[in-house]
Amino acid sequence: MVELKDRSLFRTRNYIDGAWVDADNGATVAVTNPATGETLGTVPKAGRHETARAIEAANAAFPAWRKKTAKERAVILRRFADLMLANQDDLGLLMTSEQGKPLAEAKGEVAYAAAFLEWFGEEAKRINGETIPSHAADKRIIVLREPIGVVAAITPWNFPAAMITRKIGPALAAGCTVVVKPATQTPYSALALAELGERAGLPAGVLNVVTGAAGEIGGEMTSSPIVRKLTFTGSTEVGKTLMAQCAGTVKKVSLELGGNAPFIVFDDADLDAAVEGAIASKFRNTGQTCVCANRLLVQDGVYDAFAQKLGKAVAGLKVANGIEPGATQGPLIDMKAVAKVEEHIADAVAKGASIAAGGKRHALGGSFFEPTVLTGVTPAMAVAREETFGPVAPLFRFKTEAEAITMANDTEFGLAAYFFSRDVGRIFRVAEAVEYGIVGINTGLISTEVAPFGGVKESGIGREGSRHGIDDFVEIKYLCLGGI
Ligand code: ADP
Repeated sequence: MVELKDRSLFRTRNYIDGAWVDADNGATVAVTNPATGETLGTVPKAGRHETARAIEAANAAFPAWRKKTAKERAVILRRFADLMLANQDDLGLLMTSEQGKPLAEAKGEVAYAAAFLEWFGEEAKRINGETIPSHAADKRIIVLREPIGVVAAITPWNFPAAMITRKIGPALAAGCTVVVKPATQTPYSALALAELGERAGLPAGVLNVVTGAAGEIGGEMTSSPIVRKLTFTGSTEVGKTLMAQCAGTVKKVSLELGGNAPFIVFDDADLDAAVEGAIASKFRNTGQTCVCANRLLVQDGVYDAFAQKLGKAVAGLKVANGIEPGATQGPLIDMKAVAKVEEHIADAVAKGASIAAGGKRHALGGSFFEPTVLTGVTPAMAVAREETFGPVAPLFRFKTEAEAITMANDTEFGLAAYFFSRDVGRIFRVAEAVEYGIVGINTGLISTEVAPFGGVKESGIGREGSRHGIDDFVEIKYLCLGGI
């Protein structure tokens, strides 16, 4: 049990059609605190039937919700965002308890998550259509942008609130109704959002949250002809499965999948800024974000100096339970994540890399891991190809700009890339040459609700945030008006 100021934010049942309900057979799954291993509580282990009911509820609520004016929906979304901010401490504590991230980061995520509701509520008023000069004198052409219908959202554990609001914000703003399946590890943040949505005035059925058996819930969501859109953030493997499952009913899909972000440091970079950027990009959320730098490519001339400065900065990180003041590195989500980090380090070392900092499980035990820097890393090592999703910074060496670009693009992924340079010509050349949806230039932090977030290649389809984020939740209808 988490000690919240407002205990009614700790919801342990599913939210379907405006009611708090258990799984039909009463089954539950336990939720644990990754920092302590303690059980926080349980949530329903729902399956196909409960999901089908949530979809029906969303379908029933859709006509009235879409008929509301954009302003009416915006007022509710604004209230929803304000309630999140008013309860930032509780939501932050809940998030740290189930996810592990430091409390300051958790509270920061709550504000970031609320911003999507606010921003998209405003944007709802600008879902404009168009008129097109006609091809015939007696006809007129009008284009409407209409809500797509019932939306299914499946979200991951690394951002338990923001990955939800980034989807439900534009969906609700556009007039869609939603069924959310949060990650099994972090359902309480999602259920608290449902509680706040209700307080903000969302009518029954407009937002539903179902927890439980991922395969069954996902199976129902993707096969239901009622659901017109699936929006997913998670692993590439599961994303591909869901995309294939959606083919049967030709659903529109948005996928935000894995990355393998290069972080390039050129000879002309401001090295201190590059180190600061690398710490922010690599070690935020203990390296568990899809835009975390995965490969640090450092030019020959500054390689040793950068490695030394980074090692020093890493030594200043504080590994601790996220509720401890000053904690910057919480635990990894589970022991499977620890195993992957260990595998990547062992593989690199076996192939000739050196450990410049960290390299092993932290003395705190459990899933805590030392922030790690590896030098002498080469493309032959697993860290070059796979997303580590942990606190490991592997330093690759390169000589020329062309070589860096080739290395950066040598992956099937294309979510985020970063580079540090002060040469304006190089900035344009490299920004245009890298095959990524997001490019951070002289910064390691790129996420905001006002910009389009999303990847190319196998990193996904669609964009979240900015006015482009609405596009995925609307359909275009063309009216051809004759006989004029
Ligand atoms: P991660 O490695 O970050 O846990 P996953 O892709 O496994 O990434 O999980 C992301 C989300 O997808 C979670 O909500 C998880 O429960 C859900 N999920 C996992 N497998 C399936 C599946 N077969 N069908 C539907 N959802 C799934």
